[in-house]
Amino acid sequence: MKTYDKLYIGGEWTPSSGKGSFDVVNASTEEVMGRIPAGNAADVDRAVRSARAAFDPWSRTTPAERAGYLLKIQAGIVARTKEIAETIAAEVGMPIALSTAIQAGLPTVTFGSAAQIATSYPFEEQTGNSLVVREPVGVVGCITPWNYPLHIVAAKVAPAIAAGCTVVLKPSEVAPLSAFILAEIIDSVRLPRGVFNLVSGDGQTVGEAIAGHADIDMVTFTGSTQAGKRVSEVASKTVKRVALELGGKSATVILDDADLVKAVTAGVQDCYLNSGQTCSACTRMLVPKAKHDEAVRIAKQVAEAFTPGGAFDATTKLGPLVSKIQQERVRGYIKKGIEEGATLVTGGPDQPANLPKGYFVRPTVFANVKSAMIIAQQEIFGPVLCIIPYDDEDDAIRIANDSNYGLGGAVWAANAEDAKRVARRIRTGQIAINGGGFNPTAPFGGFKQSGRGREFGKWGFEEFLEIKSLQL
Ligand code: NDP
Repeated sequence: MKTYDKLYIGGEWTPSSGKGSFDVVNASTEEVMGRIPAGNAADVDRAVRSARAAFDPWSRTTPAERAGYLLKIQAGIVARTKEIAETIAAEVGMPIALSTAIQAGLPTVTFGSAAQIATSYPFEEQTGNSLVVREPVGVVGCITPWNYPLHIVAAKVAPAIAAGCTVVLKPSEVAPLSAFILAEIIDSVRLPRGVFNLVSGDGQTVGEAIAGHADIDMVTFTGSTQAGKRVSEVASKTVKRVALELGGKSATVILDDADLVKAVTAGVQDCYLNSGQTCSACTRMLVPKAKHDEAVRIAKQVAEAFTPGGAFDATTKLGPLVSKIQQERVRGYIKKGIEEGATLVTGGPDQPANLPKGYFVRPTVFANVKSAMIIAQQEIFGPVLCIIPYDDEDDAIRIANDSNYGLGGAVWAANAEDAKRVARRIRTGQIAINGGGFNPTAPFGGFKQSGRGREFGKWGFEEFLEIKSLQL
């Protein structure tokens, strides 16, 4: 049991002005594994005051000084890798080996990359009689979700601090514990007081207090499109900068001459990563009509090898979902798909018989899905793949773009040039060509209702900069 009863504000662990707390639940066992304070608007206000006071001196430090702190934080995360990986595996349900590589591994890359970018970034350029200088945007509010809790915190906090901003972070109440570990690490490296502040609590209370705060210059949010719209609305009253990384309904497009076994296998694996709780997951698979049945046969075989089980069981290929609410949502979507007339190839809405406890959902594949169906349009956020047949390349592109979202995607073809040609016509922020891997220094973000702005690499760093012209 990990209990945190204080918030981290102004370089100190301090009680919340509220009295409440939230339990953190182990996704595999349904047992309470931790507790955190339920912060409130007064806590946010205190955190903003401390971030504001810290901003002027921090913004005037050199990039090299800031990089020095980021590298110490990176080392602190490396030193606590096992604890972070185990904590997130328990909270979120991701199998421990993957949690170690992804949930604990990626944040170290992000802190290191932010340090490198800060020290190499050209903050000034000349145009005509003007010197154009880039300055930190100010106090940044960060609101983050539960699916990749520390990875997404790092995607915001590391570049913000590297740019010279100060931050107030609200992690998801569902998987908040790694954010507290990060605060401990930040405290241990003696980052100047107020540069990083942590206020836990729920979205309506703490999240909206951040989005609406007059003395926060920018809010950066990752989560559902619905909550992102609300954050935009609340933030608009103070005209602050808003960065949003929202949902997705990404497509794997398999062209006629692609290696079907390879493409379908990779497509199912991508869809099921983190039990389908990945915003950029390719949850639609578009296959030529003539190859539909063959693709379905391969997908069934791959899906059935994803043995569900607890996050710490070595035989587990598919962990539970994060919470009861998510489990019920996803089961509801599976029932909807059956009602809509899609073919249930494997899986289904029932709890796996051998796993009566834990928020498990069976690895599910639907075939003969039509693009207009709810299961092909809405973000399910579970291990549910929709296979959609298409007529020709133009039809495949039309279906891939038939979505309010535009976050990720994949194209498979015998020739990478053909895959790239199709990828350029799909309106989405990232596309893997013939299995190209996730790159934590490439820009990540959405077209359409998948969001606004980019994270990672120099593009993510620039989100935290204001531009000023000095006319000479
Ligand atoms: P939310 O979007 O509600 O949660 C994300 C973060 O936003 C959390 O920190 C949450 O706080 C906060 N939040 C919620 N409402 C507000 C608000 N009005 N103002 C400010 N902050 C707010 O996601 P859910 O947990 O409800 O998940 C529901 C669905 O969202 C999923 O099924 C999935 O489709 C999608 N989702 C997408 C993610 C992505 O990476 N794109 C990540 C997570 C979910 P708290 O939860 O602590 O109250």
